Amino acid sequence: MSNALGAVVTGSTSGIGLAIAQALARTGHGVMLNGFGDAQGIEALRADLASETGSQIAYSPADMRKPVEITQMVATAEAAFGSVDILVNNAGVQFVSPVDEFPDEKWEQIIGINLSSNFYAIKAVLPGMKRRNRGRIVNIASAHGLVGSPYKSAYVAAKHGVLGLTKAVALEVAETAITVNALCPGYVRTPLVDGQIRDQASAHDMPEDRVIREVILAAQPNKRFIASEELGDIVLFLCSDAAASITGTALPVEGGWTAR
Ligand code: NAD
Repeated sequence: MSNALGAVVTGSTSGIGLAIAQALARTGHGVMLNGFGDAQGIEALRADLASETGSQIAYSPADMRKPVEITQMVATAEAAFGSVDILVNNAGVQFVSPVDEFPDEKWEQIIGINLSSNFYAIKAVLPGMKRRNRGRIVNIASAHGLVGSPYKSAYVAAKHGVLGLTKAVALEVAETAITVNALCPGYVRTPLVDGQIRDQASAHDMPEDRVIREVILAAQPNKRFIASEELGDIVLFLCSDAAASITGTALPVEGGWTAR
């Protein structure tokens, strides 16, 4: 796929989603930003990215727990860009607790944002992609889509679910020019991980630098955080013509974590 296309990146006011949105905008694509945050800060982000790149940048405050808002976000992006050819399902949250103490509302929230929103967004973009016979869907799963970790039952279940959804949809559209893939990143230093570092430091009564090496990156053989820009570049590759035959995959980007 080439030329300027319309893209929706969920959860792109921060972290990995923002880096992916920036990568797409810098290569000329119109981008619908989405996510929470301070309204003025988000407008400044939108305006800066538009002036830096010359691309059309829009913003939707759609809540990924709400199917109607997801559908409306896609309709707004289609109206703004003429089409949505790239969907990156990235919004995600984490909560850590033993399963027998896991709050029901946290389970529902994580399954809603990290898994069900992918389904609703795919359902909304696919009719247009099929009509135009072009499209790229990239679901940001996690190394936790491939392996488990204790105390992350909802997150691990949701991310494994994202891989199942990716495979099923990829097979449904395999004879079209639409591809559907998942990325499985290891740890990327974002606000989501900063929260885990703080929690683990207080739970283990350890300094944060020890927590990073001995707890957070314990399972990640390369012992460094993955840069969110690496994920932006991989999304660009999956959106390129070179990746036209790559579909239904779960691509590990986790410094060797799942090679053990
Ligand atoms: P982050 O906290 O920096 O960003 C999350 C984004 O999602 C923000 O823009 C936030 O506003 C948005 N968001 C949260 N709830 C939302 C909702 N209900 N509706 C709309 N937007 C909502 O997190 P991140 O680390 O950049 O994570 C992004 C994705 O990458 C997540 O799916 C996460 O599971 C996945 N991931 C992260 C890591 C990591 O180490 N950071 C590793 C593997 C996978």
